[in-house]
Amino acid sequence: MTITNKFKLNSMESKDISFHLHPYTNPNMLKETGPQIIGSGNGIRVKDQDGRSYIEGMSGLWCASFGFSEPELINAAIKQMRVLPFYHNFTGKSNTPSIKLAEKLIAIAPKNMEKVFFCNSGSEANDTAVKLVWYYHEAIGQPNKRKVISRKGGYHGVTIASASLTALSYAQDGFSLPLDFALHTSSPHYFQNALENETEAQFVDRLVLDLEKLIEDEGPDNIGAFIAEPVMGAGGVIIPPDTYFEKIVPILKKNSIILIADEVICGFGRTGNMWGSQTYNISPDIITCAKALSSAYAPISAVLLSAQITQEVEKQANSLGQFGHGYTYSGHPVPAAVALRTMELMEERNIIDHVQQVSSLFTDRIDNLASYKCVGNTRSIGLIGAMEFVSEPGTRKKIHPSHKFGAFVAKTIQENGVILRALPIDGVGFCPPLIITEDEINEMFDKIEQVMPQMDKFSQRLGDNAS
Ligand code: PLP
Repeated sequence: MTITNKFKLNSMESKDISFHLHPYTNPNMLKETGPQIIGSGNGIRVKDQDGRSYIEGMSGLWCASFGFSEPELINAAIKQMRVLPFYHNFTGKSNTPSIKLAEKLIAIAPKNMEKVFFCNSGSEANDTAVKLVWYYHEAIGQPNKRKVISRKGGYHGVTIASASLTALSYAQDGFSLPLDFALHTSSPHYFQNALENETEAQFVDRLVLDLEKLIEDEGPDNIGAFIAEPVMGAGGVIIPPDTYFEKIVPILKKNSIILIADEVICGFGRTGNMWGSQTYNISPDIITCAKALSSAYAPISAVLLSAQITQEVEKQANSLGQFGHGYTYSGHPVPAAVALRTMELMEERNIIDHVQQVSSLFTDRIDNLASYKCVGNTRSIGLIGAMEFVSEPGTRKKIHPSHKFGAFVAKTIQENGVILRALPIDGVGFCPPLIITEDEINEMFDKIEQVMPQMDKFSQRLGDNAS
């Protein structure tokens, strides 16, 4: 805090593109400017310390589903603070908000879910899921089934197990990660990874072969779980091709591999259904969720367990005398009360119906961005989407990464009043609050489109010396 106050904030006023390009993405530049301080929020907008207002096109970090000023959620926290600001879930104790929230989650979860374990972040939820996979397999007499497969480009968090599953180098470089329990299979990113003239169906078949080979090479008796975001978020908003999960899941079943759905972004309406698993018709054994669980107004995450896993975990805990895992703040009553109210508001305000209604405009406006020369691919589902950049229209040739073009586009759009996020596939992601209206969607994309011709010109200049 004191460090940031020392710096002159947001001093980059120049409109000269060449000035902005490299300094913006250079961490040393941040040292000089300090972070942009966001001071207040209202609906889908936030204001920085200089009073500049932005549409928050990313819901913060894919999370503030009710925007930035929902009084019902604020009141839920205050009310709970007054009644019981803390109580834990250890030594045979619990508290009412966490019990009610667990009941609510099971009521809205896919049918086979039975128990809920609360944590404080998506990373902790995924770490807990890995521990539970190990615990379960030890309980059923298969202690070697410890390896967990994730997909290249998947993002599952940054604690040690989660960062090992996150198959993005920035989360591992310098940390001697991944740990060797983590295996990474191919990403379902059709636009970038398909072979010349390969259809989506052929592409999926190739991914299936890759997965089967990995399982065979490692030995099915050593593989405990497969973890997947229904739609990959931070890795590039990768929407699985048709039949992807349909073809992957039977392989997991055949090899007794637990399916963990990381619903940290997709859960609670993002893809147009309560769960991304419903959108893709999958029945996971474990679901991890966080973010929109409380609209991000308070830190809370959850791990949902199927009846079969619950049963074995309970048996094992009974024979060991206790279940030796839990956090001081697991089921903290204040975040639990906020999350419970969030879940109620989802129903009271028909948020899922709303997402389904406005998502066709959202999709149209994203797809319209494909008319710009620098945009090679657009994609979206529900209220999550992306545009991916190319150096030559009609191809998938990348702009050289040293140009950090996606970061530059995100920055330029932000200067025009919309906060978005640069993605590692060299693209920009969209993930606005679920309460966004059609007028606000139009306003957001109008602002984005105001700068796109300038981005086209700039990418053409880079294209000349693309590498
Ligand atoms: N899983 C997914 C899909 C995520 O997008 C994230 C964070 O963005 C996480 C896990 C980690 O969550 P957290 O940052 O709360 O630890």
